[in-house]
Amino acid sequence: MTITNLVLGLTFSLTLGLTSSLTSSLTLSLTSSLTGSQTAGRFEVTAKSRAVQPGELVVLTMIAPVHVDQVRVHAFGHEVATFTTLSPGDRTWQALVGIDLGVKPGAYPVAIDAGAGQHTTYELIVTPKRFPTRRLTVDDSFVNPPPSEQERIEREAKLLSDVWQAPTAERLWTEPFVRPVAEPANSRFGTRSIFNGVPRNPHGGADFLSPSGTPIHAPNAGRIVVARNLYFSGNTVIIDHGLGLFSMLAHLSAMDVKEGDRVSAGQIVGRVGATGRVTGPHLHWAVRASGARVDPVSVLAMLGK
Ligand SMILES: [Zn+2]
Repeated sequence: MTITNLVLGLTFSLTLGLTSSLTSSLTLSLTSSLTGSQTAGRFEVTAKSRAVQPGELVVLTMIAPVHVDQVRVHAFGHEVATFTTLSPGDRTWQALVGIDLGVKPGAYPVAIDAGAGQHTTYELIVTPKRFPTRRLTVDDSFVNPPPSEQERIEREAKLLSDVWQAPTAERLWTEPFVRPVAEPANSRFGTRSIFNGVPRNPHGGADFLSPSGTPIHAPNAGRIVVARNLYFSGNTVIIDHGLGLFSMLAHLSAMDVKEGDRVSAGQIVGRVGATGRVTGPHLHWAVRASGARVDPVSVLAMLGK
């Protein structure tokens, strides 16, 4: 039996067993985050996000009818790590489902498997989002790196893809996410840039226009997996927060951590700068959630104080 509700312009589909009772609700809270709730049998699933759109982080909460030892979540072609609160016997599990910047609008099933026949599908209906396009004129080496740098660029691209694919299997953060700098982010996340007439990949982070030298705070606890100079992002610090969640902080003038260090939420990891291929000093903060490029501002909205 499939029931589709259309409420406030959002569609939620429920696919339930014939004998299941069903409830669905959609509330728009004061902070304009969305909560969708689907109950299949006695397995209750709630999804909370600012919006169900490309670049958004969705916090999935799953309450199992009985104690289970693990819950597996699969969404957007990826295994998504799950975690539970530390109290023994707790039946509440969570997963951070990132909707990648490049996801096309449509219905995407989230498969939830707690073993012992406890299997549920939650459907995320991704609605379209239009990102702006900007045209910039920059140093030609930005768009057409010299052939002598090609080997370096390829090596660094592989380094980054290796990092995203090998997250720490445990959750390293326990506190809310914090802003790395006090200055507000501009709304550049997702912007498609045309540099010197050449289209580039969409902007996968948020830019904070802080003055050079401004201390940068770790958005949350984790392990430093990259602290080095990269061709495009300059002095770059990447924090592995565990369970597939990463923060990349780029264009730093100074790095105060080294690879292998553990950091706590709010700890200073470096200073704002203009290293790499940039047009001026700013902090570029990008977040990966199970491989998906999500807006850091959405992470602050969902996992911040
Ligand atoms: Zn940026």
